[in-house]
This record gives sequence, C-alpha cells and structure tokens, in this order.
Amino acid sequence: MEHSSKITISKSAYQKNLELIKGFHGEESSLSSVVKGNAYGHGINVFVPMAEECGVNHFSVFNAHEAKRVYESRKKDSEIMIMGHVPADQLSWVIDREIQFFVSDLHRLKKLIPLVYDLNVTARIHLEVETGMNRTGLSRKDLPEAIGLIKANSHNIEIEGICTHFAGAESIANHVRVQNQIKSFRKLKNYLDQNEIRAAKAHAACSAAMIRYPKTCFDMVRVGILQYGFWPSQEIMIHYLQSKRNQEDPLERLITWKSEVMSIKEVKVNQFVGYGTSYLTDAPKVLATIPVGYAYGYSRSLSNQSRVIVNGHYAPVAGIINMNLLTVDISHIPGVEVGDEAILVGNQEDKEIPVSSFSDISNQLNYELLTRIPADIPRTIIP
Ligand SMILES: *Cc1c(COP(=O)(O)O)cnc(C)c1O
Repeated sequence: MEHSSKITISKSAYQKNLELIKGFHGEESSLSSVVKGNAYGHGINVFVPMAEECGVNHFSVFNAHEAKRVYESRKKDSEIMIMGHVPADQLSWVIDREIQFFVSDLHRLKKLIPLVYDLNVTARIHLEVETGMNRTGLSRKDLPEAIGLIKANSHNIEIEGICTHFAGAESIANHVRVQNQIKSFRKLKNYLDQNEIRAAKAHAACSAAMIRYPKTCFDMVRVGILQYGFWPSQEIMIHYLQSKRNQEDPLERLITWKSEVMSIKEVKVNQFVGYGTSYLTDAPKVLATIPVGYAYGYSRSLSNQSRVIVNGHYAPVAGIINMNLLTVDISHIPGVEVGDEAILVGNQEDKEIPVSSFSDISNQLNYELLTRIPADIPRTIIP
C-alpha cells in the first residue's frame, strides 16, 4: 500500500447501475455521465476509461480543469461538456479541442465571438436558460440579444444544446418550484425554436429529476450520483421502491475504501484516549490505530461516531479523528494483527459500511463525503 489507504472501483457494479439508468431515461434520451468533483471522488483518471468501456461516450464536468482531466484520461473520442466555469484564459484551449460548454449569460457570449473569429473555429455551446433556480442562465429578457448575436455569427457558433438545472428535484418540498421550472423551460425552448435557434439536444434532468419527473429526460440526461450507486435522497429511493414489488435496492456501490491496522495497544480502564477528553475507557481496552485522518478525507465530525470493519467485525472509532490517524476499539475482536485490513467504506464478510452511514451520522450528504476523498489516494478498477 503506497498511500495509507486505497480505493477500488467495481466495474460490474457500474454496469449494473448503467442498466438501471437506461431503463429510466429510455431510448429517446441519451446519457451524459457527470464526473465533476473528481467523478464524485471516484477519480476521473480511472473512472472515465472504465465508463467508456461500458459504452458511455459523453461526460459532463464543472470547469475547464476537470475537462482537461477528462480529455487526458479518455481513451475514445467521447464528448466533453463543461456545465460551469471556463476562465477567460482557458476559452481558446476549450474551443480548440471541441469541448462543449454552457453559455449562461450574455457576457460569456460576447467574450466568445471575437475569439472564435481570431481562431477561425466553431464553438460548440449549450444555452443554459434561467427557469427559476436563479443561479446561472440566460433570462427571457436576454434572449433577443443572444439570438441576434448567435445568428450574426452562425458560422462560428454551433448550438449543441439548450438546458437548465432544477433547484432540488430530490425533495418533494420543491415540487411546485420544479413544476414551474419545467413549464418555463418548455416556453423558452419554444421561443428559441420559433426564432430558428434549434439546439441539437434539450437537457435538464439530473439523477433525481430523471426518476421523479421522467418527462424532463428530453434528449439527454445528466446523471451523477446515481451512476456511482447512490440515491440522490432517501425520498427518491422510497419513490422508486414503492413502484417495485420486490422492494430491493437495485443500486450497487462502486467504491471500496480500505486502510490497514498500523499499531495495536492495550489501555487500562479510566484512561482518556488521544487528544482531549472525549473518550474515556470504561473498561480495559484493546485499541488499534488506522493511518487515515481528516487530511485524507475522513471527516473529523465522525469522531466517536463512525466505525470501520476489522476481521469481519465492526470496530467503533474511539476519540477524536486526527489529521492523519484514527483509533478504533478492537477489544471484542479476536486475533487482530498489525497489517490487517480496515474497511472504511465497503463490505467484509456479512458486514457493510455504506457511505450513507457516514452521512446519516454527520449530516453530510453522500455527495460531500465522496468528493472530499483526496485525489491522490490511488484508485484501481476491479472487475
Ligand atoms: C451535478 C449536476 C448534475 C448531476 O446531478 P446528480 O444529482 O449527481 O445526478 C446535473 N446537472 C448539473 C448542472 C449539475 O451541476
């Protein structure tokens, strides 16, 4: 083990999730695999080629840096789409490589035009329209000017898509707002159509919208969390399972995160363990240290809360998570030796630590926990 922990990514689990996703979006719509946040912590460099082997040919990222990583990792001619930030000095790199990107305001559009003329290239853009999230997107009032600019420069601008993003499709609390967004999106799409701005693809759905509001699948869905084997929220999981007879969760987690027992120590009763006074032994204990801490993606808020698996048993975290180290109680586990595996996320024998066990404990979303796993922990694909 080169790092003090390692990650494996299961290809067969991914294939299973992809099948399920296909069933959701259907034949009429295609999939863009969302790999922002280092592929939700799975590692762009290993995830992208694996996904390509499974038939994925379109990837979405947030910024130009991530686009570069996909560009360098892909083994096929997969399309790359930037949904967020392209700094001015990266725009020509992006356009030159035919990487697609969202145009969310007139400012971006106006910056683009002289550049595509200078470079004598065609920019492949997606018009992101404002439908009620009030974060990014061209408003209705911006459209006449945008249409004029696009028409005047139609040789250098290709409209690949028209798109929007929903403000929380994973929660029923946002139902009315999302419904209004869908209506508004259709209207703006029609308006562009009427003005002869015909985008190759309309896309709006993330994982939650694809499941909860199937009519939002349009020509393409942008799916992140679901492909990694996690529900966007418990509500969405319940919504799905209610429609099924067998009530079995069909998703499979791709990621397993492991470390090892670094050292073992016996501690007497009535002793504080580690920094401070948060853990007091209530009996003589045997404790093991694991060389993973908050600097390596294991959140400090899991102190005294979470557990790992050692030798097929749960070992609860004892005391504060340090920067590089955590301590677990193995008093009840027979035969533990230095170098034994410690599962941080994953299965061993009949025991499991899902990522959600973390997020339930510390109120972090799956999304946050996954994306915090440092990029330099080695990831390998397993069948
Ligand atoms: C992150 C993101 C998605 C994917 O969301 P999931 O909930 O992970 O499926 C889709 N569209 C946009 C614009 C995003 O930022």
